[in-house]
Amino acid sequence: MSGLNLAQLQAVHYTDGPCLVLAGAGSGKTRVITHKIARLIETGLAPRRIAAITFTNKAAAEMRERAAGLIGRQAKEVLVCTFHALGVRMVREDGHVLGLKPSFSILDQDDVTGILKDCAGGTTDLATARQWQWTISNWKNQGWDARKALAMAQDDHERSIALIMQRYEERLSAYQSVDFDDLIGMPMRLLRGHPEVREKWQRLLGHVLVDEYQDTNATQYELLKFLVGERARFTAVGDDDQSIYGWRGATLDNLKKLPLDFPQLQVIKLEQNYRSTSAILRAANHVIGPNPKLFPKTLFSELGEGEPVRVVDCDNEEHEAERAVARIQGLRAAANPPPAWKNFAILYRANHQAKPFEKALRKANIPYKVSGGTSFFDRAEIKDLCAWFRLWINNDDDPAFLRAITSPRRGIGHTTLGALGEFATQHKQSMFGALFNAMLPAVIPKRGLEGLLEFGRSINELEHRARHTHGAEDARAFLADWLKDIAYEQHLYDGEDSEKVAAARWSNVLEFCDWMAQRAGGQIDDTAATTVAPTKSLLEVAQTIALLSTISEREQDQDMVVLSTLHASKGLEWPHVILAGVTEGMLPFKLDDDEGRQQKVSDDVAARLQEERRLMYVGITRAQRTLAVSWTKKRKKGREMVAAQPSRFIAEMKLDTATSREDPREKLRQLRAEFARKAQAAANTDS
Ligand code: ATP
Ligand code: MG
Repeated sequence: MSGLNLAQLQAVHYTDGPCLVLAGAGSGKTRVITHKIARLIETGLAPRRIAAITFTNKAAAEMRERAAGLIGRQAKEVLVCTFHALGVRMVREDGHVLGLKPSFSILDQDDVTGILKDCAGGTTDLATARQWQWTISNWKNQGWDARKALAMAQDDHERSIALIMQRYEERLSAYQSVDFDDLIGMPMRLLRGHPEVREKWQRLLGHVLVDEYQDTNATQYELLKFLVGERARFTAVGDDDQSIYGWRGATLDNLKKLPLDFPQLQVIKLEQNYRSTSAILRAANHVIGPNPKLFPKTLFSELGEGEPVRVVDCDNEEHEAERAVARIQGLRAAANPPPAWKNFAILYRANHQAKPFEKALRKANIPYKVSGGTSFFDRAEIKDLCAWFRLWINNDDDPAFLRAITSPRRGIGHTTLGALGEFATQHKQSMFGALFNAMLPAVIPKRGLEGLLEFGRSINELEHRARHTHGAEDARAFLADWLKDIAYEQHLYDGEDSEKVAAARWSNVLEFCDWMAQRAGGQIDDTAATTVAPTKSLLEVAQTIALLSTISEREQDQDMVVLSTLHASKGLEWPHVILAGVTEGMLPFKLDDDEGRQQKVSDDVAARLQEERRLMYVGITRAQRTLAVSWTKKRKKGREMVAAQPSRFIAEMKLDTATSREDPREKLRQLRAEFARKAQAAANTDS
């Protein structure tokens, strides 16, 4: 237990009841969780009886790694996962109580939008469907079902959405499918309504730890309460100043409720920041200052004053990207040895802001990766393959059926599929189920029918084989066989004009298969899919795919500059951080906006400004040694460029104007760096 201060030790050693660690950024909250896992095992609690809940799969992977560093192999048995992954496991084990087969499908956002459009008769535009999705998701996060939403509806608009929600619920249960919100809502209903299930989970889990507690929503809190029961052995760690998911239903009420719901709650505060220099920490404290406080907090650092925080004034986005690249090169040139690329992060508010930085980094030949951006699993080719897997798992999954049967297209036309769909609806069957209905030949001509039946048979056969394929090697062989069988590579080349694009897509497919195989081999497990087993069947691996959003492990050790949204940067740290787009209207986001309907729900401007401020605070506190904040004199507004001002948050950082303006030596550093690069290039050509 070395490397912990007194308050941290206190939090780690208190294992008999509820414990809340409430403390600012970089004060070692996450470190408390990993050490407490080790401590609990030391006191005799079996590793599989410990659950540590993190906010992302990536954070889970990192935590597992750190715990392994402390306690070795036993860490593998600890249930380290997100709320959603825990939900999958609970629903798989006990969902039958709610009428769900263990082989249910997990729908992704696109599936949900598609189904909602369908529920409304198919004539709805995408934006409206997304809006419904958002509203329904919000209701679900409050623990409402359609009936409750209908009862609570304030006006006709809400009533109509509640009716769509009702149809949506019916569809999901017909498809034996759940959406992301169900992965929290269903376990909660299981625990609340079914004492035998509740007792089982409460007996299993000896201690539950939750990181980033401030970003839990109301249903997650309920779930936690039911999981820990009367004994209330849990540890929550969080920081009210870093709550940045209000727009997704997270609520600070969960923090306020905790001492009321658990009067015996031990509250522990940490005050020393081990991450950032004093200059950076001071700026962070100034920015968060104006926000109302849940409790008084002081945060100090002993890492010294450090470099002043810099403000970089830029003309436009391209200029901003150039300056960021110059800064990175300058900082590298100024140190000996130069810091590795992975020590640098460029953070911004929204994904689309990455582009100019990507261009500038590529031009300068600097390796980089975009995290929290378009996910691997959003690519068409990966979705195609996943549709097949989903269909193996759950034959009733109609959205998956439609995608799988058309990719690749197997000579089955729209008319045939349309007729099948109609027939299935009439007979209250899923499309797959309808394939084997004795009356189907009456409505579908022979040629189309043969194609359909062949597809159906192949799915059955694949499902059977996938169930019995265990371990990495067999999984790899299986996937290779199957892809050859359906001629998927050819399908990609047929569908793409550019061979280069097709080749890139095919290489994604291969990477994906490799990734599946590794999971089947038990090398990687970030889903809590099963109770610890060395290997998994391919079918088990396939079921949890929808949950994973990035292939993160492989990227972790690569030496690359990180581009990330502020939201995705939560909990992480880098020696050198550039916060980009700190322009009024972007951060804070334009608050008096009247364009999007989204504004309607969160119309409390003051509350939104507070959340924006917390976002800025999260950004600043990612930096360990140097921090630069850049803004642009022009920003995009719709399709236009408009004049812009530095964000109010820059003034709020209260920087010393004499030192905060961009380092005058930068140009010199830049020249030196360029010279060094040229010398290197020359040396390379010589040898
Ligand atoms: P955030 O609020 O951003 O999630 P956090 O409170 O979870 O931050 P950690 O990530 O646990 O903070 O710790 C921040 C850094 O400080 C890490 O590099 C960690 O290793 C280090 N650290 C934490 N506690 C100590 C300690 N007692 N002694 C030395 N270093 C520490
Ligand atoms: Mg943390």
